[in-house]
Amino acid sequence: VLSVRDLTVEFGSGDGVLRAVDGVSFDLAAGSALGVVGESGSGKSTTALALLGLHRRTGARVTGRILLGGDGPEGVDVNALDDEAVRGVRGRRIAMIFQDPMSALDPYYRIGDQIAEVYRAHSGAGRKAAWARAVEVLDRVGIPDAARRARARPHEFSGGMRQRALIAMALACEPEILVADEPTSALDVTVQAQILDLLDGLRADTGMALLLVTHDLGVVSRSADEVLVMHRGRAVERGPVHEVLRAPAQPYTRSLLEAVP
Ligand code: ATP
Ligand code: MG
Repeated sequence: VLSVRDLTVEFGSGDGVLRAVDGVSFDLAAGSALGVVGESGSGKSTTALALLGLHRRTGARVTGRILLGGDGPEGVDVNALDDEAVRGVRGRRIAMIFQDPMSALDPYYRIGDQIAEVYRAHSGAGRKAAWARAVEVLDRVGIPDAARRARARPHEFSGGMRQRALIAMALACEPEILVADEPTSALDVTVQAQILDLLDGLRADTGMALLLVTHDLGVVSRSADEVLVMHRGRAVERGPVHEVLRAPAQPYTRSLLEAVP
């Protein structure tokens, strides 16, 4: 469902150009999960944000192709779309969740309204139908008594429930791809396992593809089929998780594995 070709992201200008992502290519098949690992600053988040066209306002230069729907005639290059067309794709065909759910949730609005609003923007559904959709996805992500809890504000939720609510918002329009940037890093291990279980289940049920950015190799071996290893903006290794973790081909990947207790 996604083919990324020669993606490069540069910040700054003149002598201060930083190439945060340097010629990264990969494919993501429907229903599959690709883990993206690498040390801090290796370009994982920059890659993830670029997939949703989120560098446009930062003045970054993004080159390469981001083919939604794949490398065929039905593929749409996110990087070639105008701003309005990108807004039409973002949230509907490709959605994203972050480490801190509050970066995407408004503390003062009811959670159900925030989800309903995203759904309405893309579907044109009426208020009632959009609210019903919000309750439905909150229920799907395991919020107990979803019809009532949809009226809560985010601060009334625990951290794990907020992350579930953010996943619900991402699911509202049934995206083909979910990009998750460190979705469990801020959660304690029990809640972390619950969120990963939820993502695994959603992938199995909906055929949604998952791009899972993490610095945690345990998360990757648990929830990803394949892993992409990034080092200084480059994709230095890619393959099935268990092969790469068992027999890394790249010296950098070996050192990354050795650094993990
Ligand atoms: P971490 O594991 O710490 O989250 P990361 O792999 O996600 O790291 P990125 O956030 O992608 O790393 O950052 C890659 C490089 O790009 C870093 O050197 C960072 O400082 C730089 N960078 C990221 N965003 C911007 C920006 N908006 N403007 C300038 N430089 C940026
Ligand atoms: Mg990051």
